[in-house]
Amino acid sequence: MRTVVVTGSASGLGAAIRTRLENEGTRVIGVDLAGQEIEADLSSPAGRSAAMNAVLNATNRSFDGLVVCAGLGPHVKPVSKLVSVNYYGAVEVLDGLRPALASGTQPAAVAISSNSIGMVPIEDPALIDAMIDDGEAAALAISEQFDGASVYAMTKIALARAVRRRALDWGRAKVRLNAVAPGPIVTPLLQGSLDDPVLGPMVEALPIPLERRGEPTDVAAAVAFLLGEDAAFVHGSLLFVDGGTDALVRPDLV
Ligand code: NAD
Repeated sequence: MRTVVVTGSASGLGAAIRTRLENEGTRVIGVDLAGQEIEADLSSPAGRSAAMNAVLNATNRSFDGLVVCAGLGPHVKPVSKLVSVNYYGAVEVLDGLRPALASGTQPAAVAISSNSIGMVPIEDPALIDAMIDDGEAAALAISEQFDGASVYAMTKIALARAVRRRALDWGRAKVRLNAVAPGPIVTPLLQGSLDDPVLGPMVEALPIPLERRGEPTDVAAAVAFLLGEDAAFVHGSLLFVDGGTDALVRPDLV
């Protein structure tokens, strides 16, 4: 039986990914603030270490899939929390658990980025650069200069870049690593944005060619594909699951 570790598995996309994988006969080890096999706070280095140690103990240092899904929406304050959870809570867990993943069977990992990476104009990319190059303390220090929508988008840009920059190392380790970029998906996180007086109208204004918002099961299906053997040669890719919004807004960005 395959074992897949899913962070953020208590709600929204993570819960749907959990259900989808379990229905396929996969053993899922969930990591979240509460209510899952492993309770940990991925917003701090200590919390991430505790989470990873618990995963290693629960899996005897070998498992087959990893989905880093835990995240906070652009409405959450302080915005520095978005940096800690959305970027470091994903990238540190990916890097820290890669050796255990590498000893699994046909191992693969998926990060959850966002189609906001192409929707929010980024005038000053300093925070993206800080996350990738300068470390958490420096990134946290400058994050408060930016609004929530920009910080959210920058955490998801940095995460997508982190995935692509790992293609060689992870490829040589024979661990596939991909990301999905969902558009607005009906979850508590999206509702938090919709309820925000500034962010709500921005979300409502997003054009969606398929003329509906996504369901968590739409993203779970894409993640299941990327984790599975049908995606055996898919590595370093960013799969938009957004009803066509990115293609509509940025058609020539290829
Ligand atoms: P959600 O709020 O329903 O679920 C997020 C989960 O992450 C929750 O269970 C929460 O407890 C957990 N989490 C938050 N902070 C944590 C921490 N410090 N430590 C451990 N767990 C923590 O949200 P969702 O919509 O399912 O979002 C899941 C992921 O998908 C996020 O990374 C989000 O940015 C991304 N995403 C969502 C949408 C959308 O429209 N819903 C669109 C694009 C990307």
